[in-house]
Amino acid sequence: MKLSEPYSGNASFDGELSIAGVKASSLAKEFGTPLFVIDEADFYARALAWRDALNKHFGEEAGTVYYAGKAFLNKEVARWIKSIGIGLDACSGGELAVASSVDFPVEQIELHGNNKSEAEIESAIKAGVGTIVMDSFHEIERVAAIAAQQKKIQKVYLRITSGVEAHTHEFISTAHEDQKFGFSIASGAAWKAIEATLTHPSLNLTGIHSHIGSQIFIHDGFEAAATRLIGLLAKFHDHFDMQLPELDLGGGYGIAYLPGESAVVPDEVLGAIAAVVKSECAKHGLRVPKISIEPGRHIVGPTTTTIYEVGTTKSVELDGGESRRYISIDGGMSDNIRPSLYGAKYTALLANRLSDSATVDSRIVGKHCETGDIVIREIDLPGDIAPGDLIAVPATGAYGRSMASNYNHIPRPAVVAVRDGSARLITRRESINDLLALDI
Ligand SMILES: *Cc1c(COP(=O)(O)O)cnc(C)c1O
Repeated sequence: MKLSEPYSGNASFDGELSIAGVKASSLAKEFGTPLFVIDEADFYARALAWRDALNKHFGEEAGTVYYAGKAFLNKEVARWIKSIGIGLDACSGGELAVASSVDFPVEQIELHGNNKSEAEIESAIKAGVGTIVMDSFHEIERVAAIAAQQKKIQKVYLRITSGVEAHTHEFISTAHEDQKFGFSIASGAAWKAIEATLTHPSLNLTGIHSHIGSQIFIHDGFEAAATRLIGLLAKFHDHFDMQLPELDLGGGYGIAYLPGESAVVPDEVLGAIAAVVKSECAKHGLRVPKISIEPGRHIVGPTTTTIYEVGTTKSVELDGGESRRYISIDGGMSDNIRPSLYGAKYTALLANRLSDSATVDSRIVGKHCETGDIVIREIDLPGDIAPGDLIAVPATGAYGRSMASNYNHIPRPAVVAVRDGSARLITRRESINDLLALDI
């Protein structure tokens, strides 16, 4: 039986969980647990859905889909992005190094970050990175100086704070922006940043950028941000009698983590954004700029399932005579910090067998020395789950492995790609020796 979201596109359950035709038990046996299993064909399909929707709704004016590498990046994923032919949004020298290790086309890379080091800027410009998104007045001077030193003219965007604060199911419009990213429109900083950038012959300002948040479901937040940015493009046009040709609307598109939750649909959200962009441009007498986007979570999140092995179970008496069963798995907050960091919710299933045991109120916890090391706070799971069973948690592809730590000296898990019935290692498991190798 095919599983639906939040399980990945090629996940099924026939007496046991299989992903792209590979059984959970054989994955655990061959690669160990905890294990991140990425459904490669699903990754391709999701990335292509964004590219196709952008082309459909913007036609000639479609810019680039930049995959936000911070959601999850390793060499193999960088090769996939390269072969799909979309761009990469990198936000550190480390992410740039991954891209260059697989000869990722540099002109398709956009470099982000609110505090890029001089070394990062130097190596980015030297490598020929397509676009640098600048985030502060210090950075405008730094990028300009380094580009001038290298006798280059660097294509740049400015990160703009639109005053639109998007939450999952609502957005709030504020005049003031109490956060570290970008130049705010309301305070006038955005306009000053434009003027500062234009004073430097080594900088080629081609557009502006905005990213309003993450795990967003409502289209209005994106539409409101686009409206404000086009207002700024119109001001630029009125003032300089020419137009900035590009507009990057960032990422943040929401996905399903729990059964029954819905996800943003690329075709729908980009259709809605395109309608607003076109009508706002028409209102101001502007040509529609080239529109780029930066989905991270929406591409990789749903493609990946974490497989854990159960080590112990324990029944705990609650007030009122009820009891709760604690299921301890062999990972936890070191491979998925999102539940403790954001209160994020996940679902899970017993992956290695079908159980006809009645379900009991269960809590899945990790093996770390923290009471808050909880993967799933409350879930009904079969009462006979026992040591040695496998638990699968879907939709862990974004901000899971990429935010993993070595808390308690736990080595970080391996990542395996599955496709058409076969599995291959794409990031090996850390060993204790890897950890010891760092200490002097
Ligand atoms: C985090 C981030 C993204 C990706 O966000 P998702 O929620 O993963 O889509 C895109 N652009 C910028 C600038 C970001 O900081």
